[in-house]
Amino acid sequence: MSWDPRPVPDVTPETERYWTAAAQGELLVRECQDCGLVYHYPRSLCPDCFSERVEWREASGRGEVYSYSTARTMSGWPDDDLPLVLAYVELEEGPRLMTNVDADPSAVEIGTRVAVEFRDVDDAEIAIPVFVPEDG
Ligand SMILES: [Zn+2]
Repeated sequence: MSWDPRPVPDVTPETERYWTAAAQGELLVRECQDCGLVYHYPRSLCPDCFSERVEWREASGRGEVYSYSTARTMSGWPDDDLPLVLAYVELEEGPRLMTNVDADPSAVEIGTRVAVEFRDVDDAEIAIPVFVPEDG
């Protein structure tokens, strides 16, 4: 499956470390040192208790499909890249990521075990985390 062109995410000071790690094949989440919440998207304040004492933590990169939908047409998206499986993946650490599952839609259902892979983006020093079924 082709991954070009792909939208390139905005890299901000808050998320730069996340994207840099992804380019090196590491999936980072944030962990609050006050309440223990592990979360994604990588905001600099804990979304639960608003603590600033949050650390980066490398996730296992494994989880399961929490919910998903299949896009068979998408405006501006190349037909070669369709259908596209859009999913919330719940990581073993707890957070849910909005992501793509790079698989035939028939291989994806709620609860499917998945593992992270990273797709390089042309013309950018980042990589996009996507998920693939573990037994596929
Ligand atoms: Zn907290």
